[in-house]
Amino acid sequence: MFKKEEFKRDAQDFINWMTEYLEHVENYPVRSQVNYGEIRNQFSSKPPLRGESINLIFNDFKEKIMPGITHWQSPKYFAYFPANSSPPSILAEMLTATLAVQGMKWITSPAATEIEELVCDWLRKMIGLSATYSGVIQDTASVATLCAIIAAREKVTNFQSNRKGLGTEVLRVYCSTEAHSSIEKAVRIAGLGSDNLIKVEIDSVGRLVSKALEARIETDITSGYKPACIVAALGTTGVCAIDPIAMIGEIARKYNIWYHIDAAYAGSALVLPEFRESIKGLEQVDSLVFNPHKWMFTNFDCSMFFVKDKIHLQNTFRLVPGYLQTGNGTEVNDYSNWGIQLGRRFRALKLWFVIRNFGVEGIRQQIREHIELAVYFEKELRKQSKFEIILPRTLTVVCFRLKVDKQILSADSDRINAELLEKINNTGRIYISHTIFQGKYTLRFVCAQTYTEKRHIDEALEVISECTDALNY
Ligand SMILES: *Cc1c(COP(=O)(O)O)cnc(C)c1O
Repeated sequence: MFKKEEFKRDAQDFINWMTEYLEHVENYPVRSQVNYGEIRNQFSSKPPLRGESINLIFNDFKEKIMPGITHWQSPKYFAYFPANSSPPSILAEMLTATLAVQGMKWITSPAATEIEELVCDWLRKMIGLSATYSGVIQDTASVATLCAIIAAREKVTNFQSNRKGLGTEVLRVYCSTEAHSSIEKAVRIAGLGSDNLIKVEIDSVGRLVSKALEARIETDITSGYKPACIVAALGTTGVCAIDPIAMIGEIARKYNIWYHIDAAYAGSALVLPEFRESIKGLEQVDSLVFNPHKWMFTNFDCSMFFVKDKIHLQNTFRLVPGYLQTGNGTEVNDYSNWGIQLGRRFRALKLWFVIRNFGVEGIRQQIREHIELAVYFEKELRKQSKFEIILPRTLTVVCFRLKVDKQILSADSDRINAELLEKINNTGRIYISHTIFQGKYTLRFVCAQTYTEKRHIDEALEVISECTDALNY
């Protein structure tokens, strides 16, 4: 039975805590400082036989769970890519949790499907894709890319592989050596075999070399392979390299290969006209994914997947058993036919709240501010002669490392930079991460957290400098 007064009291406690948390989130150690097992071992290994009060559980949450939290919403979070949030998104998530609908089909909650159609269309316009594209929200970029690769597999086999299996033809997928691991995972799961993922060489700033791609496709065709899909990166995870989108598009068209773009982080910047204009050839792509849960102030998980021809996707994923057949058949849109999962959360609601509450201009302004902060960080870091900037900044990603004496071996230089990273993150004052680029251990600073301001960048510069001075090398 629903106990109104109890629920209201508990909910108000939670909301008070949430408000305090967000107000003071920058005071927590950004990266959790616990050791493995420390959190779990505080609790009995037996599940409680009798129910416990919300108050008691909530107290344990505050005292025993919180130390094991890494604060992704801290304005001093500069690691990996952010998993952003914002007040309208949090509030919408509360409504989603309260309604707890399962929007597998239009009829199981018409608003869930229709608001998803609406926000996908808004976002399509916001990033400047033509009306030939339609969108669906997936949980993650990994799953959207998997859907793209499976649809590509189906299309290139005339929609036979779902039914008959792969047969004797060997399909190939292409990406750069800097592409995200989710592409290799997708190729494995799609049954193509990771040996058939061809990782094409990159240039000095991390972009796929399109001539090398074409040469590889030519050899593969001559050797009897069937090219199925090219995945280009619009912003690699390591250094945010942007592959030559237009040139790769021409190759995809020439050889009639499905062209997918992984824009997981950088795709949000397509809302800026000045950035959108610098990306030519986006209209050649068959599919594109980007994550509003990274850089568009929307709670994880929320990944935006666009396809040029939704029929290919639906022909790949539609499967309607008797118990799911409804009277409205093909007149309505059932999003469960657009991907892997049947059951679907009402994810569109938080995006609808975010876009309405920020407004397109508000989103643009915040993204521009992040870029300006990254420009500032890069400029200030260059002034400290201890560091070298590994390659020019793209959007908010700055890659750098400590300069070490020429006499020091490169393995030692990698170790020293890894020590520096550990020292920085152990302070709890900021959190940054690293990548390996062109074989070198490289520190990576990403400035795209919702609440980051200039003073947080100044603190980051201070922490990096202090930790460097404290290093023995
Ligand atoms: C983060 C990232 C992914 C994976 O995103 P998920 O939504 O966590 O699956 C894929 N590609 C790139 C380029 C990324 O930066």
